[in-house]
Amino acid sequence: MARRKKIYEGKAKILYEGPEPGTLIQYFKDDATAFNAEKKAVIEGKGVLNNRLSEFFMLGLQNIGVPTHFIRRLNMREQLVRQVEIIPLEVIVRNFAAGSMAKRLGMEEGTALPRPIVEFSYKNDALGDPLVPEEYIVAFGWASQQDMDDIVSIALRVNDFMSGVMHGVGIKLVDFKIEIGRIWDNDFHRLVVADEISPDSCRLWDVETGRKLDKDVFRRDLGSLTDAYTEVARRLGVLPSNVTHRPRPTLIN
Ligand code: UDP
Repeated sequence: MARRKKIYEGKAKILYEGPEPGTLIQYFKDDATAFNAEKKAVIEGKGVLNNRLSEFFMLGLQNIGVPTHFIRRLNMREQLVRQVEIIPLEVIVRNFAAGSMAKRLGMEEGTALPRPIVEFSYKNDALGDPLVPEEYIVAFGWASQQDMDDIVSIALRVNDFMSGVMHGVGIKLVDFKIEIGRIWDNDFHRLVVADEISPDSCRLWDVETGRKLDKDVFRRDLGSLTDAYTEVARRLGVLPSNVTHRPRPTLIN
């Protein structure tokens, strides 16, 4: 079989040319990075879990009418996606203060925010993905004002969906990051949720215990990342069949 053409390799994923024009194959690696890739490790099984979880969230979003780049999962580590032009922004939605917001404003992690807050970082590793106001984005032409209005509304819909799904399995959605892509149709484009949605790009806390079930486990050395992601997948009922787990005890009358 001819070797596939690699289009791009990022920190956690590789993009290959897809089977048809306008498609790509997104391959989920086991690599974990944090602090702008200063901290690195290979976490066996992470790619398999994120492939499954991202499929689950993207399909759920499509079901409620939020467009995404996802077409279908191909195998344990790969999914077929629409090729998009990525807008160079990290779109972050926060429900509770944590991470960089808690640090910047001296807030205690976990403080409830008065309403969901959407913020933007300019995707540029060399600059450390700096936080940017919407005015910069529009003035520098990274996205139009219309795009920004649409991006905020997509981000808030993703937040409502993700918060609800997580709440249903006893998990608090503290914050998350999405990326948005453009799909061109002649002179017009539409915006879709692209990249991935997984515990790599969310903060997820157990409602009862506060246990962290996201990439902070790796960033802050809090234990096994695979165990945390497996727990999220298990609660959502999306565990891949070859990952062994102990079933929850059931009550027998
Ligand atoms: N995030 C991400 N990729 C990044 C930066 C942030 O997925 O390059 C996610 C992160 O996992 C968290 C949210 O966006 O769920 C907010 O992150 P924050 O700005 O607090 O930055 P951090 O503390 O992770 O550096």
